[in-house]
Amino acid sequence: MSNANVLDYLNDPSPKTLGRSPLEWLDQLTGPTVVHVAGRDRSRTRAMATLLHGNEPSGFFALHRWLLEQRTPEVNMLFLLGGVYPAKTPPKLTVRQRPEGRDLNRCFRQPFEGPEGAIAEAMLIELRNANPECLLDVHNTSGTGPAFAVTITNDAAHQALASLFTDRLVMTDLRLGALMEYSEQEVPTVTIECGGSQDEHAHQLAYDGLVRYTTKTDVLSLEQAEWDVSVLRNPIRVELANQASIEYRDTPSGQADLTFPPDIEHRNFGIVYPHESLGWIGEKGLGTLTAIGHNRIESTARVLRIENGKIHPAQAIRLFMITTNPAIAKSDCLFYAVKASGEPIF
Ligand SMILES: [Zn+2]
Repeated sequence: MSNANVLDYLNDPSPKTLGRSPLEWLDQLTGPTVVHVAGRDRSRTRAMATLLHGNEPSGFFALHRWLLEQRTPEVNMLFLLGGVYPAKTPPKLTVRQRPEGRDLNRCFRQPFEGPEGAIAEAMLIELRNANPECLLDVHNTSGTGPAFAVTITNDAAHQALASLFTDRLVMTDLRLGALMEYSEQEVPTVTIECGGSQDEHAHQLAYDGLVRYTTKTDVLSLEQAEWDVSVLRNPIRVELANQASIEYRDTPSGQADLTFPPDIEHRNFGIVYPHESLGWIGEKGLGTLTAIGHNRIESTARVLRIENGKIHPAQAIRLFMITTNPAIAKSDCLFYAVKASGEPIF
């Protein structure tokens, strides 16, 4: 089956066709694009998707830089640039998904409806045809913060893959139609969250990881792993209720239901103990928050407690994906949490 009506194809692109900068290259792309690069060992293929979200450019920047260098990878490489349409929507690289479109990284399962469904289905067909030994999906987080990997399968191969980029692996049993669920096809697959989209460190991390991914003979064995990976299992998702308000201040104004200090992002991946406060809670108390784990059980009281108007962890917890962007905190979530040990909070 051909995907030529949905995807564009580039084979071993020469520097002349790539533009001098990632933005110039983006200008030349007209839609979701597949890039093939022939490797030394042509019997094997590794795959990497990126730009599924149009405002998460680290993987795209890394790929552009890597392609310009004209390196020969150890094995064949298949690159999938999914969200070229949102990425090109002005101002470039600022829009997660087309305004009228769906989140592409929720479309990798039946039914493949609408333009994003068609792109997801076409990408899955490319993967099936290429039969890669592994797959990466490279993203940026919404806030700043350290990189981490996400998987639905926690085994040695997935840990080794994650270790090309980071020493933190979040394992989730949630199924949302994300590309990383390709792991169910017996192809080790991890999502890499490189850190913030504006963060130079995140771009460098994506590039360094890509170089390891393309130069190592073996990326799936733990003996070859770059770091010991710590695993955080089935994080609970802490959200703000629909009508609730949040502010980021060193002292609460008294107007908001929840106040976090402006440097709350420093808590990312650190352990917070019950005696430490995270911020201030308004009159509505914990009712302004929800905490839902993969088992769908509401568990706010297991995660958080109130003491003298301040919000504290109910037990030692490890937090991540904390943001200081109120729009993201309201529309997505406040943060994720596991026990300090990395085990889920039940
Ligand atoms: Zn993303």
